Amino acid sequence: MIVGIDLGTTHSLIGVHDGHGGRLFPNAHGELLTPSVVSLDGDTVLVGQAARERLVTHPELTAATFKRQMGTDHESTLGGRRFRPEELSALVLRSLIADAESALGEKVTEAVISVPAYFSDAQRKATRAAGELAGIRVERLINEPTAAALAYGLRDREGEGRVLVLDLGGGTFDVSLLELFDGVVEVHASAGDTFLGGEDFLEVLLQAFATDTKTDLKRLPASELARLRQQMEAFKQGLSTHGDNRLQIQLLDASMEWSCTAERFETLAAPLLQRMRLPIERALRDARLVPGDIDDVVLVGGAVRMPMVGRLATRLLGRLPLRHIHPDQAIALGATLAAGLKDRAIDLDEVVLTDVCPYTLGIDVSRVDERGRYHPGYFLPVIPRNSVVPISREQSISPVSDKQKVLSIGVYQGEHPVVERNIALGRLEIPVDPTRGGDGSFRVRFTYDVDGLLQVEITDTSNGHRHDLVLQRNESALDTAQIQTRLAALQALKVHPREHLPNVALMARAERVYAEYMDNRDHVQAWLAQFRSTLESQDTARISEQRDAFTAALDALEAES
Ligand code: AMP
Repeated sequence: MIVGIDLGTTHSLIGVHDGHGGRLFPNAHGELLTPSVVSLDGDTVLVGQAARERLVTHPELTAATFKRQMGTDHESTLGGRRFRPEELSALVLRSLIADAESALGEKVTEAVISVPAYFSDAQRKATRAAGELAGIRVERLINEPTAAALAYGLRDREGEGRVLVLDLGGGTFDVSLLELFDGVVEVHASAGDTFLGGEDFLEVLLQAFATDTKTDLKRLPASELARLRQQMEAFKQGLSTHGDNRLQIQLLDASMEWSCTAERFETLAAPLLQRMRLPIERALRDARLVPGDIDDVVLVGGAVRMPMVGRLATRLLGRLPLRHIHPDQAIALGATLAAGLKDRAIDLDEVVLTDVCPYTLGIDVSRVDERGRYHPGYFLPVIPRNSVVPISREQSISPVSDKQKVLSIGVYQGEHPVVERNIALGRLEIPVDPTRGGDGSFRVRFTYDVDGLLQVEITDTSNGHRHDLVLQRNESALDTAQIQTRLAALQALKVHPREHLPNVALMARAERVYAEYMDNRDHVQAWLAQFRSTLESQDTARISEQRDAFTAALDALEAES
């Protein structure tokens, strides 16, 4: 059975497609959304709700938003152990797979996982590695906007269409333009802001709170800050659903109250909305389209629930966006559809998912000013961003000086005119014979293929000699041997049996509530002690009954605080 997975920044989902429709599986708590949070408790791993509670009580043992670090060598240290982002993602995947296997009653061996359209090759490889580390074969990666369009059934429409998909998740904003014709989906252009998402809207609220209440956030202990963030998150969601909101919180033994109107929130978030405009306008410009050329606008990602986002889309694009599928579920449902097509051997050629090169690729050159002086360090684009791959392009360059013995060419990716501000991918040094004839120029050819391999070929036009360099752009990805070693290490970590998870999460929640609310500590502690002893009794009926009562007590306590 092939499952479809949305491995999100804040939440992840898993499901299958039975040919009629997608079915998402609940986790042990009955929720479809599993927080993409991992926490260590000794050598036991907690994933999801329980781990999220521990962001407050054990921030040093807990990791979140690691999707942002995919494709880099960044490591998180939890309880003295170091984890790469693909390992943390693998732990989330393992937990999702356990939920799917429990619902299906069979083993899951393959998956289709969605990734942002602008994910680079290194980020895609890291996602595949996460799948391997979780013990599954990643059948394919599907671009998130394509998955969203599949979920909306836009592929099945008659004729052609252009769809703009705006995905505002927890940590990323992804804008993609899809061209649909005869059941074929083509990712025509994609442009994103990897550092713009729901969390930034949370951040503006936190800053406003800090200013209004004269709280120095930098001086708050980590657990107090995490608790404030958690309550502010609920506050932000309240602003979306019922407008003006009030926050009451106990910080450093002081009781604080703060309120914010929906209107003020929109004013505070104006710079973020302005940042959202840029990739939308860029995507249209790159595709040489105007808003009137777009047939449908699809909004996905939890943060599009903020009414101001819908208004921005309507204003910019002149039409009401589609968002009737749960914005948190659309991508996962699309991934299950892609998995279902694969599973039933339905030709996926129907859906040609054309990839684009997400960044401009080029070399460094010197520019000559009007006085004839050379200034090194300028970027000469060879392959412009959003080119459909595979692609091959050429540029001619000349050595700066007649006496030059070596031509040193740096290869960069990025959008900045100065190479220093772009990412260096590699360098090629070529001997130059100063007495060479011809017109003295060199031809630089870049060939970028669908697997993200970049071949740089430099030809000396005077003698036809060629020099080349192949850049895999995955220096930070794990190789097979490393995956095997890390797989063994991850397998040594224990996980709670699935049926225990609601109890584990409840205790993690009680510990958080204990840390948060000074007034009712005795009460919470008594409940905890009683629940622990009931757990020891292993009487499942009693445990379940007491779990409900304990949950209700915590609900009441949090509601009245
Ligand atoms: P995703 O990564 O797609 O799961 O999106 C999660 C983001 O959506 C988080 O930043 C949440 O704060 C945000 N979000 C979810 N529900 C709401 C809501 N009702 N109002 C505002 N933001 C929300």
